[in-house]
Amino acid sequence: MEDVIELKTKVQEKLKLYGLRPTRARTRIGMMLLDKPKHLSADQVHEKLKQKGYTISKATVYNTLNAFSECGIVSEVTIDPSRTYYDSRTTPHHHFFNIDTGQLVDIASDDMSVENIPRLPDNTQIQDLEIVVKISNK
Ligand SMILES: [Zn+2]
Repeated sequence: MEDVIELKTKVQEKLKLYGLRPTRARTRIGMMLLDKPKHLSADQVHEKLKQKGYTISKATVYNTLNAFSECGIVSEVTIDPSRTYYDSRTTPHHHFFNIDTGQLVDIASDDMSVENIPRLPDNTQIQDLEIVVKISNK
């Protein structure tokens, strides 16, 4: 029980640090996502909250995750237009994405190097370079 209270306090302090008022929804979702590095989709967050007996609308989950992403407390990993995961590890890294299981696994940025990036279109610069390696089960 103490761990839960401690986690709640930690999450609320982190939210404030990122300029977010620790509302009940933000605190609950933060406790689920920010306790350790993990990847969850909005649907997974919604499902887990329902399993814990909380009533929360999907819109609130989406809005909360968007707010988290906008302030940089989580980063977004978009696999395809219908699948976005929220990642509580916000330092640069890459991912394996298993298309059979839907699981995302971190790849340390030092474990992968990218060579021969083609010439960028005029008047552009690299903003970010994150690679998703799609894998399937054998
Ligand atoms: Zn990740």
